[in-house]
Amino acid sequence: MEKTAHDLFVIGGGINGSGIARDAVGRGYSVALAEMNDFASGTSSGATKLIHGGLRYLEHYEFRLVRESLMEREVLWAMAPHIIWPMRFVLPYQKGGIRPAWLIRLGLFLYDHLGGRKLLPPTAVLDMRRDAAAKPLKALFTKAFEYSDGWVDDARMVVLNARDAADKGALIMPRTKVVSARRENGLWTIETVDTLSGRSQTHQARMLVNAAGPWVDHVIRSAFGQNEARHVRLVQGSHIVVKKKFDGPKAYFFQNPDNRIIFAIPYEDDFTLIGTTDRDYTGDPKDVRISQEETDYLCKAASEYFKEPLKPSDIVWTYSAIRPLFNDGASKAQEATRDYVLKLDGAGGGAPLLNVFGGKLTTYRRLAEHALEKIGEAIGVKGNPWTANSHLPGGDFPVHGFEGWRRLNRLF
Ligand SMILES: Cc1cc2nc3c(=O)[nH]c(=O)nc-3n(C[C@H](O)[C@H](O)[C@H](O)COP(=O)(O)OP(=O)(O)OC[C@H]3O[C@@H](n4cnc5c(N)ncnc54)[C@H](O)[C@@H]3O)c2cc1C
Repeated sequence: MEKTAHDLFVIGGGINGSGIARDAVGRGYSVALAEMNDFASGTSSGATKLIHGGLRYLEHYEFRLVRESLMEREVLWAMAPHIIWPMRFVLPYQKGGIRPAWLIRLGLFLYDHLGGRKLLPPTAVLDMRRDAAAKPLKALFTKAFEYSDGWVDDARMVVLNARDAADKGALIMPRTKVVSARRENGLWTIETVDTLSGRSQTHQARMLVNAAGPWVDHVIRSAFGQNEARHVRLVQGSHIVVKKKFDGPKAYFFQNPDNRIIFAIPYEDDFTLIGTTDRDYTGDPKDVRISQEETDYLCKAASEYFKEPLKPSDIVWTYSAIRPLFNDGASKAQEATRDYVLKLDGAGGGAPLLNVFGGKLTTYRRLAEHALEKIGEAIGVKGNPWTANSHLPGGDFPVHGFEGWRRLNRLF
């Protein structure tokens, strides 16, 4: 048994758990974090890897989320320019297509102006009869819209948050599964098991944060014994990686007849990353794999746009992950909110619990700040928000704006 109780014990070493641990330890709380596998082994390494406002979410009126995400693009880029960089997205337009031109223009106008964009270049219109971006595509498009978002190495962003938290004094425990947590004498008693050695340990903490992503309900049920917990909707998203379909650093945004969108993104120099899908999932998140139906869907959707059709045999790798979306009762998986929800339980009676539902890579830092507000409410405020002007380890060099970055990388 450890002698002193931690202020906070965080379950989950994905982006949200690592981000909360880093923010909290930087404000002066004593923090421990347990991750049952490796960092980012859950959803946080299976994303499309965009630091983005989420143009599509405007259609679902998620203005709060889009605004916060848009604002975070440049904050995160400045924090970690070694793993985050700007990317231009080409959205080909076809008359009589899924969305009229005026709607796309309106969406992109909001996208350019909602989020305090300073360094990223604004939307441009491309003449697809001349522009190089038309080269890999079918000759269906006379026009395209080009807009800015960002790219991130998602797993490294998680590891750098955990690294920085550890450097600042947090106890960071990978391969450590939380098997039970109970309230005792105004504190949490948490039992963990080292998943390599099988060794058990007991920890005490004033407050518990459940940031177990797709396992958040499972933790509530199995570790806390609340059998009815059903807060998240598990939605699978899969990606395929194929030999590169086009040259250059720009990505494509394709609209599908089912109203969904998919991205085709330059990936690791020689490849193109294509995704994603949206379908409800009921199995164990660790077993998630792409299905034949998703493979066919992604190949078909990309083949509507690329000159050379995409066949399942072109695929060199696939990956799938589970979105732990807050269950807002939406009928379709693609319509469920992408925003996060933080639920504080037991703040008055000692040993409070904060459950984290949903969240994007893009909003992890703001999610952590909101979590710290709740933590302050529950166990007393320490320190001030500090992460907006910080650097993740290795990222302490200036960004010099989009032009500087473009010249540095000899792009476009
Ligand atoms: C297909 C797809 C595409 C996406 N694309 C984007 C994108 O382009 N941009 C964007 O901003 N967001 C994107 N997202 C969303 C984003 O990836 C997730 O919201 C985010 O990664 C969730 O992080 P998390 O920390 O909550 O969960 P996770 O990363 O899953 O972390 C939870 C961790 O908890 C651990 N854990 C669970 N139970 C226990 C236990 N009992 N003890 C100890 N540890 C435990 C797990 O091992 C896991 O590592 C995408 C998501 C998906 C699925």
